[in-house]
Amino acid sequence: MMICIDDITTALCAYQPGADLELLRKAHDFSAAKHRGQARLSGDPYLSHPLEVAMILCRLRMDLVSVVTGLLHDTIEDTLTTEDELREQFGEEVARMVDGVTKISKIVFRTSQQRQAETFRKMLLAMARDIRVVIVKLADRLHNMRTLEHQPREGQLKIARETLDIYAPLANRLGISWIKSELEDLSFRFLEPEVFAELSGKVARRRKERDAHVSEIQKRLETILTEQGICGEVHGRFKHLYSVYVKMQRQGIDFDQVHDLVAFRIIVESVRDCYTMLGVIHSTWRPIPGRFKDYIAMPKANMYQSLHTTVMGPGGQRMEVQIRTADMHSIAEEGIAAHGKYKEAGGPARAEENRFGWLRQLLELQREVSDSDEFMSSVKIDLFPEQVYVFTPNGDVMELPRHSTPVDFAFSVHSDVGFRCSGAKVNGKLVPLKTVLHNGDSVEIMTSANQTPSKDWLKFVQTAKARNRIRHWVKEQERQKSLELGRDILEKELRKHGYSLGRALGLERMPAVLDELNYRNSDDLLAAVGYGKLTSGQVLGRLIPDQVRTHPERTSRIGQVLDRFRRKPSEAIRVQGLEGILVRFAKCCNPLPGDPVTGFISRGHGITVHAADCPRVLETDADRRIEVEWQKEKGTTRPAKIQVYSLDQKGVLAGITGAITKCEANILRASAYADQAGRGVHKFEVDVQDLRHLQQVMDAIRKVKGVQQVERVRYGRRD
Ligand code: MN
Repeated sequence: MMICIDDITTALCAYQPGADLELLRKAHDFSAAKHRGQARLSGDPYLSHPLEVAMILCRLRMDLVSVVTGLLHDTIEDTLTTEDELREQFGEEVARMVDGVTKISKIVFRTSQQRQAETFRKMLLAMARDIRVVIVKLADRLHNMRTLEHQPREGQLKIARETLDIYAPLANRLGISWIKSELEDLSFRFLEPEVFAELSGKVARRRKERDAHVSEIQKRLETILTEQGICGEVHGRFKHLYSVYVKMQRQGIDFDQVHDLVAFRIIVESVRDCYTMLGVIHSTWRPIPGRFKDYIAMPKANMYQSLHTTVMGPGGQRMEVQIRTADMHSIAEEGIAAHGKYKEAGGPARAEENRFGWLRQLLELQREVSDSDEFMSSVKIDLFPEQVYVFTPNGDVMELPRHSTPVDFAFSVHSDVGFRCSGAKVNGKLVPLKTVLHNGDSVEIMTSANQTPSKDWLKFVQTAKARNRIRHWVKEQERQKSLELGRDILEKELRKHGYSLGRALGLERMPAVLDELNYRNSDDLLAAVGYGKLTSGQVLGRLIPDQVRTHPERTSRIGQVLDRFRRKPSEAIRVQGLEGILVRFAKCCNPLPGDPVTGFISRGHGITVHAADCPRVLETDADRRIEVEWQKEKGTTRPAKIQVYSLDQKGVLAGITGAITKCEANILRASAYADQAGRGVHKFEVDVQDLRHLQQVMDAIRKVKGVQQVERVRYGRRD
């Protein structure tokens, strides 16, 4: 018989007396109107499904919003209802919840992904955001499983498989063991119909005989607890079919060999109580040899702790008894078993367990507190704050750190995909490579044979793998560049002495020079010259000492130039991320920090930095231009030239120099004369920090009485 809204209001009121029944009825009427005319495969009106789902949620003692969500959960997916409409009618919270259920329902899990089930479950939880969404989804799945017989066979298999792989473990994780067991048994029934029928027949026959037996033993165990003065609880339960089946499978035994269809669990307060109870049980009933397991002294790898024993119970029936503390019990129930402990202790796995532990406690508590409405609405939880779950084009789920980008994704797929990554599509749309990925995104990477990694990627990648691979690549590039530069520099110097680089490197002295300078091979040496760690003079002086001595003035001049750069390596400039490279500033344009700049690889002189608009650099070979940028740093100054026109009158020069020094700029050089028009022309070279500083100086000069015009001199001298 189909349940009706009154059944639900009654159920809800039983645990939540003050609930807003108006809202519940409104949701019912809305859902009924939206689903009107729709039928389930069973032939029942569609509305029966949301009603049953809501009822399951009541059984779980969920809050009003969850039950309302249960009534409305299929409206967005299966009717023309929009999220906005729900928001208008039922408020933000309900709309978000229904939208959440709809979203996770759309995720399709494929049988081929079984090995990925755990990642998939995490994705589901991560996408749900609000844990109530997952619970509504579980209720939805439970009712769908209960009515699975109406599905065509193919659908049955798919849904049952997914339930067994995803939803039953999820229920276990959330500590809702009755849903877990029911989902497992229902899946089992459809996946292995014959085995299921046979086994359930056998169990039913045996169960009949044993019902009275179970309560008798339970009483007996409770008496033992009392006699021993131990606080504790005894639970006797029939194992559900699927767990019996799994046991038979795992141990390779027949049903008749399964002796512990009924398991008793004793939960006590301390470890000592566990062993006390074990001793008493063993002295009351004869233990079966080889069946005692002490998982307290030797916990399982997944942290599971308990004492297990099987004894010959009353009437010669074997019975399994598990004894554990309440703490051990909650760990066993939280399903940590599924995850985590196989990884190292501590770290993210640990944090995850704690979150599950916390969640489990919340759900436990929720069943006890009366005001579960207020309580549940505060349960907004991000179970995986450090991760994001996305789909590969094959439909596999990939776990990445939160804020990961398509580049991280590409490197996670394969290093080669990362290196050749030229673009990305997220959910079918082209996006920039730095786009942050969200849970449930489908990511597709486009590659190109010509593509190489960019140093910029380092600014946004999140995974260690991507970062390391890109860094390594960039380093290799830097080495290549300095190798070329070093080769150019040495080649040019060697030419002056009549040597080619090839000939010089082949000289007999070469190994000794490498040894002396402490380089493993000539490439390392060339790279060092390119980096500016080593001057060509240092190399030439050792490699061809006789030659160098015959041209002392030339060598020493080059040496001086290079040494000057070496003594004062410009740290104000970065050359495409190269460090310690030979850099100097062009005298033709004299760029200041703040001016747009361009680098030029000048043979034998490292890199010359020009103003980007310097006419000289525009004339140069574009192939030898290189990107450079200013590095922010304090305390360094650069010379700049300015020219000031003034009335030719007394005191102007003093005013100008006063203005300059007031701005804390040093005057390096100054000259003044009067031009034909009778104006005073003053030329200054001043040391300033950057462009802004220079502008300050010029502004100050403009305010000096008698000054007519101030300009910066940039392209004074050919260089
Ligand atoms: Mn549904």
